Amino acid sequence: MFQKILIANRGEIALRVLRACKELGIQTVVVHSTADADAMHVRLADESVCIGPPPSRDSYLNIHQIVAACEITGADAVHPGYGFLSENAKFADILAAHNITFIGPSGDHIRIMGDKIEAKRTAKRLGIPVVPGSDGAVTDEKEAKRIAAEIGYPVIIKASAGGGGRGMKVALTEADLEIALQTARSEAGAAFGDDAVYIEKYLQKPRHIEVQVFGDGFGGGVHFGERDCSLQRRHQKVWEEANSPALNAEERSRIGGICAKAIADLGYSGAGTIEFLYENGEFYFIEMNTRLQVEHPVTEAITGIDLVHEQIRVASGGGLSVKQEDIKFNGHAIECRINAEDPRTFTPSPGTITHFHTPGGLGIRVDSGVYSGYKIPPYYDSLIGKLIVHGRNRVECMMRLRRALDEFVVDGIKTTLPLFRDLVGNADIANGDYDIHWLEKYLAKEE
Ligand code: ADP
Repeated sequence: MFQKILIANRGEIALRVLRACKELGIQTVVVHSTADADAMHVRLADESVCIGPPPSRDSYLNIHQIVAACEITGADAVHPGYGFLSENAKFADILAAHNITFIGPSGDHIRIMGDKIEAKRTAKRLGIPVVPGSDGAVTDEKEAKRIAAEIGYPVIIKASAGGGGRGMKVALTEADLEIALQTARSEAGAAFGDDAVYIEKYLQKPRHIEVQVFGDGFGGGVHFGERDCSLQRRHQKVWEEANSPALNAEERSRIGGICAKAIADLGYSGAGTIEFLYENGEFYFIEMNTRLQVEHPVTEAITGIDLVHEQIRVASGGGLSVKQEDIKFNGHAIECRINAEDPRTFTPSPGTITHFHTPGGLGIRVDSGVYSGYKIPPYYDSLIGKLIVHGRNRVECMMRLRRALDEFVVDGIKTTLPLFRDLVGNADIANGDYDIHWLEKYLAKEE
């Protein structure tokens, strides 16, 4: 087992990882920018190292500084959290070259999944159902038209290097295709330095359902069920639940089984998430994330298993603590992402939190790094905390969520809490009847 883990992240996820390390009796080092000197994870860690000024590229993305911090403190492993360097293959390779363990998959697996064309090809080869579309990159317009005619309109043009919902263009008819192809390519080139794009069928009313998987590091793979993350705004997840209200136990075990086998066949190690669109009973792979997800706590709530403990175990060569048959799904869990944003316009609302009071009681978990008097720096993303609620079934979970939202107080800044208070009272949400466009339509109506 590791002696000392360096946590290369900030905010709620840095604290989340720190908690797991403490439970496992592992020493912790955190790195932070000058803007985060007062952060909770810095206060609670055994050691901290300031690695640079506020902009991420000079601190949380600065590989040299982070490796130097490992050397100075003698850390033998790095947990990257999500975002920042968590899906940076070069970072994983550099750590390996310094004999420091990257708590995540190999650089090669990160590389494959970071290239969406390669990821889709790999998924298909592993027997995972994919969205119908081009086999690889599409450059020429004639070929694009031929493929689009074959799969049928509407189609979506996606950047191979895309991420965070960027670099996608929909073409409703053949007349839109030329412009969509050109704009997608030039946007992808400008944003990612790679203008490779591909085409796939645009699904009209899908749900976003993702499967949590784990490779044990010895060639075995398991799944931890799915999460439904269909409630999104601008392709950003807002509310996530496990299990999905749309799946039954049979569908869960079918898609979970396919994913677990694929992970084993790939020789993948550590946590991963295989993301699908789901429509009319069919799953369509869109991408795989090779890291811990923001929404992992809903899976922890229904399985009772600490996924960060498992990541650390696997990375240290100790394998998983559970086998597939030990993983049971109990009740229902929902996560609300509390962002420092205006609940209607979603413009960021940094500033000082004058009062912070979190709900408690049975089935409630709040993961947050903020506190009363904390000043939210304007440099990073606006997530200030996550409320995760568990109940024996979805109805009980929703009742408890409504009560928890009533108790939650964040003064001094605007947050997305009022949006969630509206959503828990909505009939479609109560029925679990929504797709990936539901929230944007709802917000447009409210305006
Ligand atoms: P990113 O890496 O940028 O998040 P994804 O491939 O995961 O890109 O897609 C993000 C979102 O875009 C999906 O959750 C879905 O809302 C939408 N999307 C992607 N592909 C399609 C598709 N073929 N049909 C309909 N919507 C899609």
